[in-house]
Amino acid sequence: MTGTSTSAADGLNRGASPFRERLGSDLDVDICVVGAGLAGLTVAREAARLGASVAVLEGRQIGWNASGHHLGTVMPGFGLPIADLIERVGFDDARELWALSREGVEYVRATATEELIPGIGYSEGALEVSNVDVGETLIGRLQMLAEDFSTEVEGWQVDRVRSVLRTRRYFHGIHYPKAFQIDGRRYVHGLAELATRAGARIFEDTPVVSIDFSGIRKRIVTPSAKLRAGHIVLAGNVHLGAPLKRLSDTLLPVWRYAALTEPLGEGLSEAVAFSGSVTDSDGIDHFRVVGGDRLLWASPETTWDARPQRLSGAVQRRIATMFPKLGKVPIAEMFGGAVGVTVHGMPQIGQLRRGLWVASGFGRHGLNTSAIAGQLIARSILWGDDRWRLFSPFELVWAGGTTGRVAGHLISLWARGASSAAGVLARYREGARAKERRREARLAEANLKAGTRGAVRRPPPGAARVPPRAPAPMRDDEPHPHISQESERIPGGPV
Ligand SMILES: Cc1cc2nc3c(=O)[nH]c(=O)nc-3n(C[C@H](O)[C@H](O)[C@H](O)COP(=O)(O)OP(=O)(O)OC[C@H]3O[C@@H](n4cnc5c(N)ncnc54)[C@H](O)[C@@H]3O)c2cc1C
Repeated sequence: MTGTSTSAADGLNRGASPFRERLGSDLDVDICVVGAGLAGLTVAREAARLGASVAVLEGRQIGWNASGHHLGTVMPGFGLPIADLIERVGFDDARELWALSREGVEYVRATATEELIPGIGYSEGALEVSNVDVGETLIGRLQMLAEDFSTEVEGWQVDRVRSVLRTRRYFHGIHYPKAFQIDGRRYVHGLAELATRAGARIFEDTPVVSIDFSGIRKRIVTPSAKLRAGHIVLAGNVHLGAPLKRLSDTLLPVWRYAALTEPLGEGLSEAVAFSGSVTDSDGIDHFRVVGGDRLLWASPETTWDARPQRLSGAVQRRIATMFPKLGKVPIAEMFGGAVGVTVHGMPQIGQLRRGLWVASGFGRHGLNTSAIAGQLIARSILWGDDRWRLFSPFELVWAGGTTGRVAGHLISLWARGASSAAGVLARYREGARAKERRREARLAEANLKAGTRGAVRRPPPGAARVPPRAPAPMRDDEPHPHISQESERIPGGPV
């Protein structure tokens, strides 16, 4: 049931897919692409634009999995955090990889125009918010992104974040003014249309059941016909299966689910006044307002294929936790899809052996990274551009099979639990600081009132509260224990 939605809704544009025939007779092409998701279609479009004859074989329908069921946020970067990327490949290569990820963003921006894909619903701005109070870390990251990685970013203080997202759950934020969002379903069908216009042929309902890689011309077998090609691009994501099981086994399939709510009225703009996408730094929640008064919200994940409807309660609870004023929101539609997560967090882009290419493992960052794959692979086959080698350090690593899935699920549960515990701690600290500030304000006020009579003594920070005792008899030359001398007045007014 992956990649399905429970009902149509007006808030999100769901473009209908024209039916494309299955492969009915044998064919000979330059390039055969397996899989008509974002990755396969981008490779096909780019290769056809460069003059190759291309056939795309899709086992089901265009975009039936993750590519037709995502939130449409387009940002630079990869699943692997930037600091880990530098550690893994060094600063210079990390910069080059990051530049490719920005190129991927620009590719989607140039493709997702009203002229090329009508109804694409382009809007700008994305905010990455922190669930914990980590101002210093954030400033370091901002500097690195802006100065070393040429990415336009703004740091938002807690107050600014909370002025547009009315929840105590979020602290600082990084605003990407040039990130954007689009209607995901329109985009994948638009890509298919553009690939077809460029000359590629797309066949649906045509699963590839086996491939003979030997020889210069490779042979591809489908239930109804055979195909011969000089190059094969495997863009089947986690469903590739039989043609190269060992490749599928290098991906941990993670099913991610999202909800589109019913219209929520004015209450929504009071809770969420940011028009772009919001993601949290732990990768748990991802949401945005669509159609003016609906929420599109992705959060729950499983390592097995569940019916999206079963996760609607989880999304409702999550929204109510983050924005209690919204309460239990009515859900209009649930959808989801399987993303392929690699062990190292980077996509699989490159040549496995002569004429055999891979474009998969895009995780939750599929729009910009599949665009990179499409361009690099097409240009390498047709122009000899070898920049895909930047991805070579990220080898195909076995994801651990069933044990890996169980472990993946446990790690995900643990990470979500740890993130929520860190959030609780951050909010507790914030509450304690606010309480301390209020106490100081009261103290300063009391001092003002006390005027020339002297200031009220401030208890040392962290002093234990002790129950009041009956005062001991006082001598005339002793200062009053609860009224300090003028020289001890606490400086400053209320904070
Ligand atoms: C809820 C959700 C929200 C997301 N939000 C975002 C977002 O906002 N931004 C972002 O960048 N990314 C997002 N993603 C991630 C993004 O959707 C994926 O990374 C991307 O769609 C993966 O594309 P793909 O082409 O690799 O895979 P797929 O979409 O899985 O396409 C692969 C295709 O290959 C076909 N196939 C497989 N094996 C065979 C075979 N043997 N023969 C023929 N055909 C075969 C399959 O049928 C499938 O159609 C989200 C994902 C989900 C689930």
